Amino acid sequence: MSTGLVSPDSPGAVLQLVRSAHSSSRSEIARLTGISASTAALRVQALLDSGYLEEAGDGESQGGRRPRRIRLRTGGGVVAAADLGASHAALALFDLGGELLADRSASIRVQDGPESVLGWVHAQLQEMLDGLDGSAPLHGLTVGVPGPVDAQAGRVVTPARMPGWNGVDVRALLGRLTDVPVLVENDANLMAVGEHAAIPDPGGHLLFLKAGSGIGCGVVIDGHLHRGARGAAGDISHVSVGGTSEVPCSCGRIGCLDAVASGAALARDLAAAGLPVRDTADVLALAADAEPVSARMLRTAGRATGEVLASVVNFFNPDTLVLGGRLSQAEPYVSSLRAVLYERCLPLATDDLRVAVTTTGRLAGVIGGAHLMLEHLFDPTRVNSALGVGPQPLAVAH
Ligand SMILES: [Zn+2]
Repeated sequence: MSTGLVSPDSPGAVLQLVRSAHSSSRSEIARLTGISASTAALRVQALLDSGYLEEAGDGESQGGRRPRRIRLRTGGGVVAAADLGASHAALALFDLGGELLADRSASIRVQDGPESVLGWVHAQLQEMLDGLDGSAPLHGLTVGVPGPVDAQAGRVVTPARMPGWNGVDVRALLGRLTDVPVLVENDANLMAVGEHAAIPDPGGHLLFLKAGSGIGCGVVIDGHLHRGARGAAGDISHVSVGGTSEVPCSCGRIGCLDAVASGAALARDLAAAGLPVRDTADVLALAADAEPVSARMLRTAGRATGEVLASVVNFFNPDTLVLGGRLSQAEPYVSSLRAVLYERCLPLATDDLRVAVTTTGRLAGVIGGAHLMLEHLFDPTRVNSALGVGPQPLAVAH
């Protein structure tokens, strides 16, 4: 990861400029960084020689010679992402510019355990790689899981809905199957990053609510994922929603948001009311048919979630709140959540707040996974180190 000590005239910093599309020629790089034209040309040449950049033809003349344009060599490799839910998975491949190349989704049973599920993920991704036009090497893999993750260690920590996964070192398990860098992240965190990368003008501060079978929340601050001290930031699932709820939660307490307002909780309560419901998808199907009990329960769940989010929004003052996960497809849920949010928040916190339903849908997590991996691969310190420039990174996060 970046140490913040990257010299602005180093190849890694120059690559960052080109990636961010702020410059596409040697002369622009020289102008933006203040380095000499000859140094800019040397840095670009090193990045061309090592395959990070490629020539992109001639640009518009600014009066003199037409500048030769350069760009990221997006076809030089592929990054993969897998977003695992309790009962479904999204898998995708992206080029090095973050363009989606292929994706698929499938039903899984996360309780089958890490060896089985991760083996399946690897085999699926291999099949997708084999199906691509042309061969580009895999450069990295990000896996999102529906539970708390110690991202530094790559371990899953006390996940409520992932029996058999507690303490599992996902990075090490995948490391037996592939030798590329592996990142492991909580699914709501990946979705927050994915939505922030995908929507136009999100502002620096974004909250992503994932309301599916379970409830989670991802936090982006100043454009970067905020994990907190141990990776628990944004976990609103065990906030007590007060009232008189005696519903026991998987964490051992009673009345947690997850126990009363998650898709799993709604499925449980609707089944107890005698309706033919097994899971969150069934809850949504009933609501789509305007079945009144499910609509009322979705409104109650939306209010409970909105009350928790109101505290978070007042405290955090985000630019954007994105509502994702399957429950965000249910109108009664979204409208009651919005209503309580505006009721309970200070005008200063909501005047310019954008509240939107996810636009990336089931791809939010894999887009976020690719984004994090590309940030990792193109980290200026890492690039400089690969080119033998400057201080070696303290720890290669692999
Ligand atoms: Zn709980």
